[in-house]
Amino acid sequence: MIGRTLIIFLVCCSSITVFSFIKNAPPSLKKQKAIRTIIVDAGHGIMENGGHNGAKGSYSYEDDICLAISKEFIKNLQKELPEIKVVETRPTEKITSLTRRANIANENKGDLFFCIHVNAAVPIRKREFIGNKTVTYYTGKGSNRKKKTKQVPQYKTYTVSNPAKGTETYIWGAHKSEEKELAVRENAPILQEQDFKKTYGDIDPNSPEFVALSLLKTKQYFKRSATLAGFVQDEFAKVGRVDRNVKQRGVGIWVLQATAMPSVLVETGYITNRAEEDYLNSKAGQKELADCMIRALKTYIDWIEKQQDETDKRNNSSNTNKSRDVNNFLKMIEEKEKAYVR
Ligand SMILES: [Zn+2]
Repeated sequence: MIGRTLIIFLVCCSSITVFSFIKNAPPSLKKQKAIRTIIVDAGHGIMENGGHNGAKGSYSYEDDICLAISKEFIKNLQKELPEIKVVETRPTEKITSLTRRANIANENKGDLFFCIHVNAAVPIRKREFIGNKTVTYYTGKGSNRKKKTKQVPQYKTYTVSNPAKGTETYIWGAHKSEEKELAVRENAPILQEQDFKKTYGDIDPNSPEFVALSLLKTKQYFKRSATLAGFVQDEFAKVGRVDRNVKQRGVGIWVLQATAMPSVLVETGYITNRAEEDYLNSKAGQKELADCMIRALKTYIDWIEKQQDETDKRNNSSNTNKSRDVNNFLKMIEEKEKAYVR
């Protein structure tokens, strides 16, 4: 654990460090497709005992809707962006454990993690006055004992379904990003292999430069996740869905914490709202949701490629020479990144 001030200092240093290292990148290390693999994660699934794991509506289950929307999304994805490889964490109705989901994502070196869920809101409790009831009671003892009556108000309590509706997209909580950074830094000992010095010269994986570079990379997951989540919500709003905004959740979403890539969790709608339940179960609704996510994905790809182009432009216009062997360093980062950073 390192202090907040140090983190800020390192991140500031990293901007300078990263740009100076990137400057001399050989052409082979530049220009890779920004998004090569997308992990699609249909929430929940049928458990071993046959029960449903997700939320329940008046006639349908979250588990089935998540799978249906995911399948529609994948179908569109393969049609519109055929160059992208799609990996499903839950390809059938059966449940996949959360750890397994994150492992599938990391093992396949996903560039993006798309998690699809359906929301539920607890019913609202109501209390309603239904009239007075005459209650008999007695006072005094023996010959003084008297019969009396009084009026007692009567209520009935009941629940009504929660009218909450719309979509919201979750990203991993900001405070949690420190843990993600920590995980990256704790992997740094991998770099202290026997011939490390011989191969990479004076690059020290414990150096502020190296740590800062790792930190910057993990920071980018957060920025990218937040950007994608914003695009997703924009598209839902455009087709008239109630926009419940991008939200951060620090706990309880294991898949967002454990995936070493930008990740979003889309709560597509409320199964506890009858109109939304119908929408979520309809072919048209599922298609609309999938289409929105595809459009958001395309906007995201444009955005990220534009960023990549700007970095390339900066690299090409530079002619600064560094005393360190920056090409080796960059190559090493690229190689190690494939193994554990992403
Ligand atoms: Zn869910």
